[in-house]
Amino acid sequence: MGKCKFNEAWRDKQAFCHWLKPVDNNVFEAFCTVCKKKNSAWYVKGVKALESHAKSSKHINSIKREESNSFHRRSVSTC
Ligand SMILES: [Zn+2]
Repeated sequence: MGKCKFNEAWRDKQAFCHWLKPVDNNVFEAFCTVCKKKNSAWYVKGVKALESHAKSSKHINSIKREESNSFHRRSVSTC
């Protein structure tokens, strides 16, 4: 709790919290940590735009890359 405090509408969306971060000094922008890109359209278009970004192949591929990296790290350190 308390990690995702920007756009009220997004706060409940736990699915976005993993990759969505607020941008310092600009509440109208959000940053996708897996794609490493900022987008102000998300704020304007709202949750629908986030959902479509989450489903975009670019984002999914970025997540897969992240996961394979962290999975590798995790599988080494745990078990
Ligand atoms: Zn993304």
